[in-house]
Amino acid sequence: MTQGATRPNSPGWGVTVQPLRDPGGRIDHVVQTVRDATQIQAEDGHSGAVAHHDEVASLRLRLDRLMALDKLKSDFMNLTTHELRSPLAIVYGYLSMMESGMLGELSEGLHEAVGSSIQSVEVMMQLVTELVEMARLDETRLDPTREPVDLADVVAEAAVSVDGSERHHLNLDLGSGPAPVLGERGQLLRVFSNIVDNALKYSPDGGEIGIRLRRTGRQVSVDISDQGLGIAPSDMGRLFTRFGRIVTTATEGIGGTGLGLYLCRELVRRLGGDVTATSVEGQGSTFTVRLPGTTRVVARSAT
Ligand code: ADP
Repeated sequence: MTQGATRPNSPGWGVTVQPLRDPGGRIDHVVQTVRDATQIQAEDGHSGAVAHHDEVASLRLRLDRLMALDKLKSDFMNLTTHELRSPLAIVYGYLSMMESGMLGELSEGLHEAVGSSIQSVEVMMQLVTELVEMARLDETRLDPTREPVDLADVVAEAAVSVDGSERHHLNLDLGSGPAPVLGERGQLLRVFSNIVDNALKYSPDGGEIGIRLRRTGRQVSVDISDQGLGIAPSDMGRLFTRFGRIVTTATEGIGGTGLGLYLCRELVRRLGGDVTATSVEGQGSTFTVRLPGTTRVVARSAT
């Protein structure tokens, strides 16, 4: 057999042609092999290795730059959101005092203006709170707080806002006994308050809000369902995305930031759980939060 010819620099391909001869020395077959040129270059050694090394170095540089930019963005967000908090709280405080008449009688027109100013400030405060929460999540990306928390207690507290609603009826089923999970109580309360508040907000005509907690094996799951506006199948993919507001003719008058569900799911996922949703447009939605249970004992608060 005679040695074949290789053309490793053919653009994109390495082609090897190998003639096979009969016992009389005449070529009777040709074997042609086509291989990926990048693989051949790597096998060829030095030039491939140098190119590879340069590429890794340039990728590392770009990664470093992106990480520095990401940190700058987080620092900026942190600073601005913290700086916005105090003045907003002061404006909110004065507006509330005006609305309650503590600073003197208000004309009807002024009372209305103060009321809608309060609503706008509440939207801003909600946005700032969620941005702070987002920055906090970035900071604790690798190390979320995990202490034993009774989820039944947290869910009961989150359900209080439904009890205060005149248009909604609460159907609360927590099963019996505690439901311990690992996490931070304040954050878990924000997760459930957010989902319960959404259930109220997106069922403007009222109806039943069902909250059901189950302990299944090593898991605790909570269903929060409403009989509200529901979500179209084509919008379901945007539910848990950052700033993923779904604005339809039915929801356009309802305020929000589009950050709440994104934060809820991020947080629950970091604790090893998940948040999912099912919905029928025009009939209502069910959000399910699942978290791993724990056998660790929940510390009793001093109060
Ligand atoms: P928002 O601040 O807009 O309420 P969320 O992240 O909490 O942001 O929710 C994202 C979007 O999901 C909302 O804009 C709304 O359209 C939709 N959504 C959330 N909860 C419900 C619900 N219970 N019923 C119908 N739509 C909902």
